[in-house]
Amino acid sequence: MARKKLVDAASKGLLAESAMIAQGRGEAYDYLLGERTSESALLAIREAAARLRAAARPIISVNGNTVVLAGESLIRVAAAIRCPIEVNLYYRSPERIAGLLSLLSEQREGLKGEGAPIGFSGNWLNAVGSVRLMGAEEDGRIEGLEGSRSICSAEGIESADTVLVPLEDGDRCEALIALGKEVLVIDLNPLSRTSMMASVTVVDEVARASEALVGEVIACQRGPSQWDNQRVLRDALDIMAGALERI
Ligand code: ATP
Repeated sequence: MARKKLVDAASKGLLAESAMIAQGRGEAYDYLLGERTSESALLAIREAAARLRAAARPIISVNGNTVVLAGESLIRVAAAIRCPIEVNLYYRSPERIAGLLSLLSEQREGLKGEGAPIGFSGNWLNAVGSVRLMGAEEDGRIEGLEGSRSICSAEGIESADTVLVPLEDGDRCEALIALGKEVLVIDLNPLSRTSMMASVTVVDEVARASEALVGEVIACQRGPSQWDNQRVLRDALDIMAGALERI
């Protein structure tokens, strides 16, 4: 189903050419993980939830694959913590930005009809309806990056203190960290530069992790903890090595 969604989105021009290569890379790691959320990934999801809740200006940065695979769950997360979502693309094109914003907007409309997630107190319809969708503005810059890859929204990523950014590339993760932001990533590859540099890495599939994150941001009652990110990366590698040993 995930592949079909991506193929359909690609045929509508919503994805960069490299999107399928990234998906294939992710699937390979997911096989080795057993296609399930590990205990340490769940701990990382909880830590990400605590940091998003504690942030003064949190934001969720999404690319094409993320919108297609996990857009609805991430809109629920944004509704629960009242933060914006920014479409921010490595290979930026005005057409794809507009297409992804309109897909997110459709997803947001669709969610208005659903009941509030368990544990959410407040008006869900209003919370979902007021999730701000950003990315068309080109008035901000990510310092340390060149050309179109540095473009972002001034009121979005540029001024955020905490960025949840699934499937990010290494250079941008590094630039965001260098700017002093908390960077929370979801990435199936524990050895990617992004995974190794992030403040908190959730080594899990983006749709699964985002769905779990909805419940965690709503249930979260604690602040950020001392976090050993190397430990979750090592744990993911141990699980993968264990899978190879079973053959
Ligand atoms: P880096 O630049 O961080 O070293 P990279 O060059 O692989 O890594 P990208 O091309 O942006 O970076 O790849 C995106 C990452 O997303 C890859 O590590 C891939 O494993 C991961 N990925 C792809 N699909 C999914 C998915 N559905 N869920 C989670 N992670 C995914």
